Amino acid sequence: MNPYFINPKLKEECGIFGIFKHPEAANLTYLGLYALQHRGQEGAGIVSSDGSRLRIEKGLGLVNDVFKEENLCRLTGDCAIGHVRYSTFGDDVLKNVQPFLVNIAQGWLAIAHNGNLTNAVRLRRTLEQSGSIFQTTSDTEIILHLIARSQKKEFSDRLIDALKQVKGAFSLLFLSEKFLIAVRDSYGFRPLLLGEFGGSVVFASETAAFDLMGAKFIRELDPGEIVIVTDSGMKSIKPFPPSETKQCIFEHIYFARPDSFVFGANVYEVRHALGRQLAKEKPVSADIVVPVPDSGVPAAIGYAEELKIPFQMGIIRNHYIGRTFIEPEQAIRNFGVKIKLNPIRAVLEGKSVALVDDSIIRGTTSQKIVHLLRQNGAKEVHLRISAPPTTGPCFYGIDTPTKSELIASSKSVQDICAFIGADSLGYLSLEGLLDVEQKNKHNFCTACFDDRYPLLPED
Ligand code: AMP
Repeated sequence: MNPYFINPKLKEECGIFGIFKHPEAANLTYLGLYALQHRGQEGAGIVSSDGSRLRIEKGLGLVNDVFKEENLCRLTGDCAIGHVRYSTFGDDVLKNVQPFLVNIAQGWLAIAHNGNLTNAVRLRRTLEQSGSIFQTTSDTEIILHLIARSQKKEFSDRLIDALKQVKGAFSLLFLSEKFLIAVRDSYGFRPLLLGEFGGSVVFASETAAFDLMGAKFIRELDPGEIVIVTDSGMKSIKPFPPSETKQCIFEHIYFARPDSFVFGANVYEVRHALGRQLAKEKPVSADIVVPVPDSGVPAAIGYAEELKIPFQMGIIRNHYIGRTFIEPEQAIRNFGVKIKLNPIRAVLEGKSVALVDDSIIRGTTSQKIVHLLRQNGAKEVHLRISAPPTTGPCFYGIDTPTKSELIASSKSVQDICAFIGADSLGYLSLEGLLDVEQKNKHNFCTACFDDRYPLLPED
């Protein structure tokens, strides 16, 4: 069996940030990670460089838990990279928190990675068979081993050598005593953007990180591009043969922050347009449109506008709980949705509700929300989803369960509606989704909706 289906630890969601030559490098990286917290809540780390030494601080938890004044001030130097990570719990969790910092023959090197490699299992086996000793269970470490073993002289050639061997999704940042390097894989699965802050070069997964510190957004890295920043300036190279662009459409639907600009568009505007499109395809005559907060809000606004139905925040989200709370025992888990989302009876009583969310994964959240709305007086609940049915897992850096756990992989829309207990259920069509995205003139990976995987995990 393919190990990707049996080892959920190999699946990660992440955010990355880097800055070159700024006296406040570590503090700014901390702020950047803060803005990217939604991309990973279970671990965070920063590596800084003062030109002769690299220092690392990392830990489990939210950025705010991991970094305090005492460890931030240990991160001296004017260059830094940082990482936030979400991954299922397992052994050696702290070891898997990035950035990774290693000493290779050419000196110290740190790496921060967003995405998943699809040939990690095979590469790791080959490397181990020829003597490599791995410290983590992360696919990212493979890239370091490949760089260390390359016979090329120049670092950039070693990097190219290594990256030619890996397949899959990788937006990467590397930091050494001398350089900061940013890389995006040829498909461009994950975002990576270039900015400028007070004359310093900055990189981030999303523009929300630039906004927080007032950095100027310059451009997105092209798929397959490597940007090398040194004291002598910035150089861009594209050493890989061009491949079809396959940017992750789920970044626009759910994952990225709505205030971010990624893949040529503002995320809020995309979600809003998806809501309008959903209304055209799956209208309903309801008294109110209610979003599942927070991710369903922009689409619900679009849906309500298009159908001229009042938009109401009929559910309030408690923002002070992390994802980790719903991890433990089943008995506690059942409280999960109630702890996070509380319906407002005064808004819902006697109303026919169009409930808008961005996706249904296992179906359990939607089921609980529909039940809660009814308990709080809703007369009818019509669920509308601003994406097509999620039928396949992601192998490129979005944390989705296995195919069999995805409710839409085995059930029809009618059966899902019955499971959830809604009066009706309507998804956005794939054509409708692509129509909305067409304006952006970008090509997207839609494998989680149509099974058309650009790359499959290799054994
Ligand atoms: P489920 O109960 O499994 O159907 O979860 C559906 C909810 O999970 C929706 O409200 C989505 O916004 C949210 N969601 C979708 N994808 C993810 C993801 N990768 N990680 C966490 N939550 C997600």
